[in-house]
Amino acid sequence: MGVNLPEADVPQANIDELLPKKFQRQTPACLPEISEPEVIRHFVNLSTLNYHVDKGFYPLGSCTMKYNPKINEETQALPGFGSLHPHQPDSSVQGALELLQEIGEYLCEIGGLQGITLQPAAGAHGELTGLMLIRAYHDAKGKRRKYILVPDSAHGTNPASTSISGYQPLQIKSNEQGLVDLEQLRTYMNEDVAALMLTNPNTLGIFESQISEIAGIVHEAGALMYMDGANMNALLGIVRPGDLGFDVLHFNLHKTFSTPHGGGGPGAGPVAVSGKMIDFLPQPCIKKNDDGFSFDYGRSDSIGKMSTFYGNFSIIVRAFTYIRMLGARGLREVSEGAIINANYLLSLVKDYYDLPYKLTPMHEFVLSGERQLEYGVKTLDIAKRLLDFGFHAPTVYFPLIVHEALMIEPTETESKAAIESFADAMILIAKEAEEKPQVLHEAPTTTPVSRLDEAMAARELNIRYLFSDK
Ligand SMILES: *Cc1c(COP(=O)(O)O)cnc(C)c1O
Repeated sequence: MGVNLPEADVPQANIDELLPKKFQRQTPACLPEISEPEVIRHFVNLSTLNYHVDKGFYPLGSCTMKYNPKINEETQALPGFGSLHPHQPDSSVQGALELLQEIGEYLCEIGGLQGITLQPAAGAHGELTGLMLIRAYHDAKGKRRKYILVPDSAHGTNPASTSISGYQPLQIKSNEQGLVDLEQLRTYMNEDVAALMLTNPNTLGIFESQISEIAGIVHEAGALMYMDGANMNALLGIVRPGDLGFDVLHFNLHKTFSTPHGGGGPGAGPVAVSGKMIDFLPQPCIKKNDDGFSFDYGRSDSIGKMSTFYGNFSIIVRAFTYIRMLGARGLREVSEGAIINANYLLSLVKDYYDLPYKLTPMHEFVLSGERQLEYGVKTLDIAKRLLDFGFHAPTVYFPLIVHEALMIEPTETESKAAIESFADAMILIAKEAEEKPQVLHEAPTTTPVSRLDEAMAARELNIRYLFSDK
């Protein structure tokens, strides 16, 4: 009842021809019959059970849960983008190809690099692509290397992608400031190291100030510099990784460039490279000819294809919209705002929680709940209690080098008032930890479901919803 279907435009006679009678349903399917308002209420009610970035503050460190501008949705739905078929001939999709070409140029400019692929569908997929490019580069030089150096503060995908790509990750320890230890880096560098994989600012939110020296040490040994640029929220228009000496960089369009994020995707993880690695990029790439744009399959040294068709096109259109709406100056303001917001929030909460690494952070910072642990309150309890105040929890227990870690990233899209009310909740929770820790152990109590047994949820996966009409 909820929808009026148009008359079928296939005559009954043809239906019988296309689908023999014996395969046709004789009785109507047993589908629920509900009205339009019931459908609307069902989905609106579901949407309020869920937490999402349109509902409240989402300080999920490293994940850059910024607001996703609605204009991105409008542009990607334009018929010229939304109704394309990937098998259309190049000549009928010139606008789409031009858009792919242009966003590639923008991302190269933002990254300070020379070539790009838009194929990877996520950050981790970009990492795998980048590592395969590194392998192709070393193979072409005739020296198959074995190891990728990964700092102990790295995102878990870094060592995972390294292993999947066939390399072996070698962990390097951070120094007491939370930065790469140059002495240790020197002792690890040798002819078997293919690359250093670095996040900068690192996951503590701290900028690697000795990056030029680091790049020098790595390049001198013939190895490459890989930058995990999943989160570029501190760098836009301020620093270009290519200028710092990085050879390969992946972006997460679903973080820095405001495309929807979470629920398993879809995302996009373009990979930009320096000139010496362009020949190895996945194909097809986009080629600009005298009479328009086309797909270029002609690279004999290419590592091949990394995904079906040309990547997650509708995600790329959203990110393109974001970049064009902001322009060069707006992008720089994004990063300035992200850095100011993170530092403002830190200044509000720093007297109530431990801050193990003291250098001025950029777009995010990592607190430790160790002080609260003395009252028997774990970081998990703090995270759960935040839900009662209407906030999403921060990233917890990451990076691994911080005990009881709370990793907080407000992003530039939060107002001063939102940041202050989150800080108020954090301060109140610090007091509760001292005075009535039981409240924290029981949290959350105001959410649709209370504390879940997360280990059981992961081990005894049961995703079937049993309908009961009682
Ligand atoms: C999110 C993130 C990744 C992984 O990106 P996915 O799209 O989730 O695969 C890698 N590195 C860092 C630093 C990240 O924040």
